Amino acid sequence: RAHVVPLGAEGEGTRSGVLLAATDVTEVRRLERVRSEFVQNVSHELKTPVTAIRGFAETLLDGALGDPQVARPFLEIILRESERLERLISDILDLSRIERMPRLSLARVRLVEVFHDAYVQLESRFVQKGLRFENRIPEGFVVEADPDRLRQIVLNLMANAVQYNRERGYVAAEAWEDDRFSYFAVEDSGIGIPARDLGRIFERFYRVDKARSRESGGTGLGLAIVKHLVEAHRGVISVVSEEGQGTVFTVALPRGGISDEEVPSGEARE
Ligand code: ADP
Repeated sequence: RAHVVPLGAEGEGTRSGVLLAATDVTEVRRLERVRSEFVQNVSHELKTPVTAIRGFAETLLDGALGDPQVARPFLEIILRESERLERLISDILDLSRIERMPRLSLARVRLVEVFHDAYVQLESRFVQKGLRFENRIPEGFVVEADPDRLRQIVLNLMANAVQYNRERGYVAAEAWEDDRFSYFAVEDSGIGIPARDLGRIFERFYRVDKARSRESGGTGLGLAIVKHLVEAHRGVISVVSEEGQGTVFTVALPRGGISDEEVPSGEARE
């Protein structure tokens, strides 16, 4: 579906015009490739749980149903794989919604509360793993963000910090600002990310350890969603990690994006 871009005013700029058209075709091809790779990945990821569900259901119908010792674990696998399927579909839908770049409704959000809520949602997993949460966000720290999307960013980063942690480790949250950006960081004492993978972890479906991520129910889409959400805020996300030591994800969100009229009523501006 290659197409040629008009070359601007007739008779001038021919050389740069040709170059422009060539670049554009390359970009169109690249986008097509990215899209078809995505469709292939999605199909593959959906197929895995479906194959398991079908296989175990067939085995049950072929006679295993009569033996409760076999039937129960098989049904548990079917349930677990269905849940995985549900998560995948919901993440894929989230991602496609985000990619259409919806309008953000920016508000001034108290960051310490967002982290607190994420912690409460993950509390049982913190307890299971004997992890400690250090919420070092200053009480009055406010960021300008879309509250629901900020919640999702924080929850995904916190969930990973728990997931890829060691027993009895910690997760810490910090925040600071300069005149242009508000920053927050999620630090963990976990397994870390090998240097060769660092550049790719924000790609859809990329996992350092595919088997491990699947096992734990990961979809490989969490960080892709986070990156899109941060970029929708015109922010930047970065990561520093050391294998066996831990990982720090830092998010920078621009300040000053909200004019006074947009400040929700009842909330004084400092
Ligand atoms: P997943 O569903 O597999 O967790 P993500 O997109 O959230 O997918 O993360 C992609 C991969 O990046 C993970 O599979 C894992 O290998 C790595 N990763 C993400 N967060 C961390 C972390 N805090 N510590 C170590 N590895 C991480």
